[in-house]
Amino acid sequence: MTRIAFIGLGNMGGPMAVNLVKAGFAVRGFDLAESSKKMAAESGVTIAPSIADAVQDAGTVITMLPAGQHVLDVWNEVVPRLPQGTLIVDCSTIDVASAGTAHELAAAAGLRSVDAPVSGGTIGAKNATLTFMAGGDPKAFAAAKPILEKMGAKIIHCGEAGAGQAAKICNNMILGISMIGVCEAFTLGEKLGLSHQALFDVASTSSGQCWSLTSYCPVPGPVPASPANNGYKPGFATALMLKDLRLSQEAAQATGAVTPLGAHAQALYQAFSDAGHGMVDFSGIIAYLRQQTKK
Ligand code: NAD
Repeated sequence: MTRIAFIGLGNMGGPMAVNLVKAGFAVRGFDLAESSKKMAAESGVTIAPSIADAVQDAGTVITMLPAGQHVLDVWNEVVPRLPQGTLIVDCSTIDVASAGTAHELAAAAGLRSVDAPVSGGTIGAKNATLTFMAGGDPKAFAAAKPILEKMGAKIIHCGEAGAGQAAKICNNMILGISMIGVCEAFTLGEKLGLSHQALFDVASTSSGQCWSLTSYCPVPGPVPASPANNGYKPGFATALMLKDLRLSQEAAQATGAVTPLGAHAQALYQAFSDAGHGMVDFSGIIAYLRQQTKK
């Protein structure tokens, strides 16, 4: 079975690497942070002393890092060390331009590369139920799929290089906008004397239905598992939503796409974050909207 090098063992990468170990792969991981290495090691991931050591003899390299610059730094270090034909997969959420540069680096060295960002958060990473949105040559995708299947429940090939990142930021722009829409509706409903449950019962079976309402309801009660029932503990932190909205707006600017609601959602999440709520679940923005409400 192919040996896998896993670079970036944080909140997402750690449990993803562990799932590969559980599936029977020999995984050698590396991270800069002692805490990340310790957590992964305790769950069976072999920790390498350096990136060079991690990728030695690996048939597949996976990266799961904070942002585009980290990915490019790591790929610049790793790519020259890998024999032609090695598969390299980036699962981080990064800007489309950096994803393109990473694919070019790999192609120039004769490697097969896939961008495969994920949705499903830390719970999906732990339970191997992530959705992977992949971009890259069909043959590279076919090689990556059996590995991704050990970490996720749904693996979608979205198109050529960078298409996975494009799908991820478009999806999360919908999510940011729709969450604010749902929060505004509950805020208005409160002003009109409507109970949360009544609004939920109507909207969840009517044309207002969406994931932000039915799976992630921003008020306590109607959806018991939503972060609103747990003091808005993430879940999906506002800082991460803001990162994804920023990426979507950078892409919109670069391509000339008109996304006024995406831009407005970014501005609202920026204000919520600036008010000290970056680590609050993104559905907690309902409190910020209530605060703005005129008495
Ligand atoms: P994290 O900060 O917990 O983990 C990132 C890890 O990368 C850290 O342990 C850090 O030490 C390590 N790292 C940074 N530079 C490195 C380098 N040069 N070499 C080796 N290791 C390095 O972040 P996370 O929550 O695991 O997120 C990872 C990626 O997944 C991000 O791009 C994020 O946007 C995306 N994502 C996160 C979630 C989520 O809910 N956390 C959901 C979907 C997607």
